[in-house]
Amino acid sequence: MTSRVVIVGGGIAGLSAAEALSRTGVFHRGEMQVVVAESRRNTGGRAGSFVESRSGQTVDYCQHVAMGCCTTLLDLLQRMGLLDRFQCYSELTFYHPQHGFSRFRPSRWLPPPLHLSSALSSLKHLSRKNQREIRAALWRLMRTPESELIDVTASVWLQANGQSEDTLERFWDVILISALGDIPKRVSMAAARKVMIDGFAGARHASDVWVPRRPLSEIFGDGFRKPLDQRGVAFELGHAVRELNWNAESNRWTIERSGAESLLADHVIVATPWHVSRRWFPEIWGEQSTSFSSSPITGLHLWLDRSLTPMPHVVMVGTLAQWFFQDPIQTIGNASPTEGVYHQVVISGQHARSDWPKEKLVSQVVRELSEAFPKAGMPKVLKSRVVTDPHAVFSVSPETQVRRPASKTSCPGLHLAGDAVATGWPATMEGAAISGQLAANSVLESLVARGTEELSVPKELKRGWLARQMIR
Ligand SMILES: Cc1cc2nc3c(=O)[nH]c(=O)nc-3n(C[C@H](O)[C@H](O)[C@H](O)COP(=O)(O)OP(=O)(O)OC[C@H]3O[C@@H](n4cnc5c(N)ncnc54)[C@H](O)[C@@H]3O)c2cc1C
Repeated sequence: MTSRVVIVGGGIAGLSAAEALSRTGVFHRGEMQVVVAESRRNTGGRAGSFVESRSGQTVDYCQHVAMGCCTTLLDLLQRMGLLDRFQCYSELTFYHPQHGFSRFRPSRWLPPPLHLSSALSSLKHLSRKNQREIRAALWRLMRTPESELIDVTASVWLQANGQSEDTLERFWDVILISALGDIPKRVSMAAARKVMIDGFAGARHASDVWVPRRPLSEIFGDGFRKPLDQRGVAFELGHAVRELNWNAESNRWTIERSGAESLLADHVIVATPWHVSRRWFPEIWGEQSTSFSSSPITGLHLWLDRSLTPMPHVVMVGTLAQWFFQDPIQTIGNASPTEGVYHQVVISGQHARSDWPKEKLVSQVVRELSEAFPKAGMPKVLKSRVVTDPHAVFSVSPETQVRRPASKTSCPGLHLAGDAVATGWPATMEGAAISGQLAANSVLESLVARGTEELSVPKELKRGWLARQMIR
């Protein structure tokens, strides 16, 4: 008997599920087929790129970064032979208009979480009072279980735990908005804890920053498809799935697609964004419109007549710009010098200037950059693009956190993946990668229940070389 698994959606979650299944004994023995059905012509989903029409340059919709704590993602990239497409930085540069630049470099000698303590002292924009408050809150957070934090927002918990307005603005807003994609007034403190304690403070290299050196469309497109294709995973690209129907007589799913024949499957992993999955399975995701909501992220793509700084990226505090990147992909597409030097500024979450016209956003950000890098002089904008994804990430509010569904469902042969399933992580590449593995596990468990597969893979999926290295 050959089981057929169709994965609907070829974003990072779907790719991660395909990769996990393609390493199992049943797959190698030819007892399982894996098909990825993706509506676009390329895989990667939100982690994608566009081609700038005039220069032909490939540019990511929005700069993505991973942290050292994203061990599932980094392990997955390592297994695909793609980790070298990311550059690892073990220190971060922060900028504040009144305090200038400072380096955040965790100690190499102190054990976690103390390794972050000295790094905090080096941030010039944080006063001693700010630092005392942050340390006290982190200490309290470490001793508070996640379960006690799910239904409280980050701003309520932080205020109740002695964080002044100033500390909120200079530290918590900066970290939480970029890590969770939404403002502390809306996010659950449990999600904040996941990032701060389980993430950054948990291991020595957890706060490393991994920045793609190649376009995301290449890494999560051909970069993943070629090796998976060689393993025997089939890709059906360019046709959207319209509906999924369970046939109780044949015990199989029929997956109806636009402009292509339907697919049959014993198991379906639905790895689309939550708002697509909810259209098909409202009983799983919940009908109420309040249960899940989206948070936007804006990428400002700027081609300037000059390089502003030798620094590759800077976290900006007290400015509209939140993250600044200079030429992360190093002029891929061989843009000619007349096209200018590529820079990107990322602004996450709703902010006071979300309704500004694009030109106003660009001129404000360019003014902030010229003040941050005065030696470069006032740059001329040769070209700009502003890309806002209003559904960039789901908002990890207390309401959402308790409603995120598990990968395993009560419907026969139906499994869920995608960054919104219950992984504990916010909407990130790491959350998506974990969710794919959970869905693969769920399929394997169903096969075990039917006596066809030994559960050998989940154990090795749990900890890869990177996680082990970090714990050491
Ligand atoms: C602007 C922006 C910036 C971000 N920055 C970061 C960052 O710095 N770090 C980080 O870790 N994360 C970041 N994220 C989040 C990260 O991109 C996502 O969490 C992750 O890529 C989600 O992967 P996924 O597979 O769950 O979903 P998706 O990437 O959305 O993949 C779902 C796939 O399903 C497909 N699909 C949808 N409908 C159908 C259908 N009907 N039939 C077939 N296929 C369908 C879609 O085309 C897509 O390929 C960012 C996201 C955005 C938008």
